[in-house]
Amino acid sequence: MRGKLYVVSGPSGVGKNTILSRIVSTQPNVQYSVSATSRPMRPGEVEGISYYFLDRPGFERLIEQDELLEYAEYVGNYYGTPATPIRKAVGAGIDVVMDVDVVGALKIKKRVPDAVLIFLAASSLDVIRQRLERRGDVRPDVMARRLERARWEYSQACRYDYIVLNDEIARATGEMLSIMTAEKCKTMERIHLIEEEL
Ligand code: 5GP
Repeated sequence: MRGKLYVVSGPSGVGKNTILSRIVSTQPNVQYSVSATSRPMRPGEVEGISYYFLDRPGFERLIEQDELLEYAEYVGNYYGTPATPIRKAVGAGIDVVMDVDVVGALKIKKRVPDAVLIFLAASSLDVIRQRLERRGDVRPDVMARRLERARWEYSQACRYDYIVLNDEIARATGEMLSIMTAEKCKTMERIHLIEEEL
């Protein structure tokens, strides 16, 4: 059985990293897709774990060499998903969770129609603003652009398969795991078990 792609989007600061780290650390058959980016590293981030950090020409080389499943520009920086690790994981039956913006998520859905799109929302956009402020690494002009972007992302949530509300991390993580369980129980995934009995 091939692994599935779970594409998680939501505004910067909504808590995607926290929830996805919890899932990856508790689920043996789930791998996190480490993205490439041209944005500078933030305090606490680790090369190859948080992101693969590249300069713009380095990122553009990945694009030219067709190494990315998708890429997008988000608030002035490139972000993209390396294709090879995903191909390997899915082929080995491992599920892949990925943190991708709305533009990238919709591109993935076109290329991989059975990818599951999950939109992670905060209880309000004001909560997003507070979280970005607390993170303390965002200049005021960048903050304004991120909030404007968050509003646009909210307007696109209707295009997702699921919406998870991150008002409480444990609950949101639980909802995400329930979605992954439900996807495994879909008739398409299970019908072979029944057919073998006929
Ligand atoms: P941040 O700079 O806060 O880490 O991420 C900014 C945005 O880039 C987030 O919305 C995140 O989902 C998105 N992002 C992270 N990795 C990728 C990727 O590989 N592809 C795309 N399209 N977006 C990504």
